Amino acid sequence: MINENNIKSNVVDLNQSLKDREIEIDLLQKTFTEIGSELDLDKVFQIVAERARALVGAETLLVPILDENCETYTYRGGSGKNSDEIVGESLPLEFGVCGWVWKHKRPWWLGVLDELNDDERNLWEEEAGTMIMVPLQGRRHFLGGISGINKISGGEFTRRDLNLLQMFASIVSIAIENAMAVNNMEKTRQVNDDYRIRLEMLNRQLLESSKELEYLSLYDTVTGLPNRSLFHDRLSRNITQAILSEEEIGLLLIDLDRFKEVNEALGHERGDLLLKKIARRFERNTKSNETLARLGGDEFVIVLPDCDEEASMQRAKEFKSLLEDPFNIVNMKIAVNASFGVSVFPSQSDDASSLLSHADSAMYEAKNNATGLCLYDPELDHMTRGHLVMVADIRRALENNEFELYYQPKISIKDNKLVSAEALGRWVSVERGVVSPDNFIKVLEQNSLLDEYTYWAIDTALQQAKQWNEKCPMRVAVNLSPQTLMNPGFIKNLDRIVGEKKNAEYLIFEITENLFLSEYDALSEVLEYICGLGIELSIDDYGTGYSSLSRLIKLPVSELKIDKSFVKNVDTNKDDEVVVRSTIDLAHNLGLTVVAEGVEDEAAMRVLRKYNCDVAQGYLISKPLPVMEFEQFFQNYSGFTIGAWGN
Ligand code: C2E
Ligand code: CA
Ligand code: CA
Repeated sequence: MINENNIKSNVVDLNQSLKDREIEIDLLQKTFTEIGSELDLDKVFQIVAERARALVGAETLLVPILDENCETYTYRGGSGKNSDEIVGESLPLEFGVCGWVWKHKRPWWLGVLDELNDDERNLWEEEAGTMIMVPLQGRRHFLGGISGINKISGGEFTRRDLNLLQMFASIVSIAIENAMAVNNMEKTRQVNDDYRIRLEMLNRQLLESSKELEYLSLYDTVTGLPNRSLFHDRLSRNITQAILSEEEIGLLLIDLDRFKEVNEALGHERGDLLLKKIARRFERNTKSNETLARLGGDEFVIVLPDCDEEASMQRAKEFKSLLEDPFNIVNMKIAVNASFGVSVFPSQSDDASSLLSHADSAMYEAKNNATGLCLYDPELDHMTRGHLVMVADIRRALENNEFELYYQPKISIKDNKLVSAEALGRWVSVERGVVSPDNFIKVLEQNSLLDEYTYWAIDTALQQAKQWNEKCPMRVAVNLSPQTLMNPGFIKNLDRIVGEKKNAEYLIFEITENLFLSEYDALSEVLEYICGLGIELSIDDYGTGYSSLSRLIKLPVSELKIDKSFVKNVDTNKDDEVVVRSTIDLAHNLGLTVVAEGVEDEAAMRVLRKYNCDVAQGYLISKPLPVMEFEQFFQNYSGFTIGAWGN
């Protein structure tokens, strides 16, 4: 018999369970859509935890997820009692129920106890009663699990709970796996982004190094000025521009004189420093449209846009005047001379290369003229011709004995006595008039004619001295280029000249301080020999070179000539005064006679006298004079009263 009450209650139960079913399906659906659209993985785990907890009525619900290392798992989601504390914790995989679930790929709940081995049973029994856990199995990997702890309603989790949770897990696994994949993609994107950023950084670095390379390939490392390539680039741009605007361009080539010696004497580091300082001085004077570049070595070049011949020469003079003041290199005053060659586009040169080569020949010509500055002359091309003619003329002058010696007196400051005369070469040419040695000595030197000239000068001066000494005791000084001294044949030639006349003690040889030091070792033997003959040695142009007095004293010298550049303004320029005074003191301590050259006025003479300078030479006393005039000078001179100057 069917119990009506029973049927009723069964129908109610059925209704209830249908309703529950509906709610559960609804919950599952919602969960699925919710996590399907959620990209933040942690939020996904959170949603899973909350929905699962509602589904099985657990006091606490946790979502342990296998970590990337596959050795640990981390509670990534949690809901209910104590979940806050647990979420974020990591444990080794073999640990706890999660480890068991992972190992067996099966859910854990009370019913499992029947399936445990005896030893396993003891291990898990305590927890099993209040815990349920189902695996989250992805399509390819085990992902982790969903575990509920303690039923809110009390008692154990039922098989129904297990079924529900398993169904739930199988649905959300897919969603979790998708979210993880999206997350991985995001991570990869971030990695890509990182790569991109690093790549950009590398690119920037590359750009910088290529800029640096570009800098190195366009700029000179010593002076920081544009180098030859950049100069050519700028010049051709300027030329294009000039053609368009029908303007002219001047090119100024500057070559430092005797820089090789400076470099040798100072050392390359200081030589570089000097180049830098010269560059800075030029640079300060360069206009914004002009290009100053270093062509290499001691050559600078300046492009002068919109400059005709006159304007270019004007600029050249301005640049030349920048070298008038000496340069300070490590407490030394270094005088720098340079030769300036100018050529102009398009009137003189029709392209960049001829412009440069014309400026070069003008510069070469400038080396041989007194002003040190030359404009190229295209019509006559007189640079090369002029130079060749000059060489031919000088050769002829040597053969025809056209050279002459002028004599300039050196006076004892203490008693105004004439002590010696400096012999200075002059070429009195029919076409050119009186040519100064600055103009012809270089040409002689460059054409290996200087030795011949020098032997003539020594011979002539010695004959003259011998003659004069019959009336008035004095030495005659001859300027000797170190090149001549270094010549292996020098001693033999000197013997030949002096040997015949036997009056070597009438001679003084003046040797430039500059070259003295660099050739010290090679020269000292020759100098000893010269001294042995009774010839006095004098250091010329002292102060413009780099030798220290203590070094010079090791040579058999007896006289020191302070360069005229220090003497000229000794009465007004404090620096010059210091140099002059200290040089005199030091030289005296070393037993040297001090000569001041270039004494032009009484004020300078007074200062020299105050500092006990021994000898004076200069226009104040007399200009260099031809023989006859010099003889007149010293005949009259003996009548001078002592202390005629500066008292
Ligand atoms: P240096 O040996 O320093 O000769 C002194 C120069 O200063 C001479 O120039 C002289 O005329 C000039 N001078 C003399 N007193 C004064 C003065 O009060 N004020 C100024 N501003 N200058 C004065 P010069 O005769 O033109 O000779 C120039 C250089 O040529 C000489 O300089 C010397 O280095 C060289 N030189 C001259 N003759 C010979 C020579 O026969 N052989 C060699 N190797 N070089 C020579
Ligand atoms: Ca001299
Ligand atoms: Ca001198």
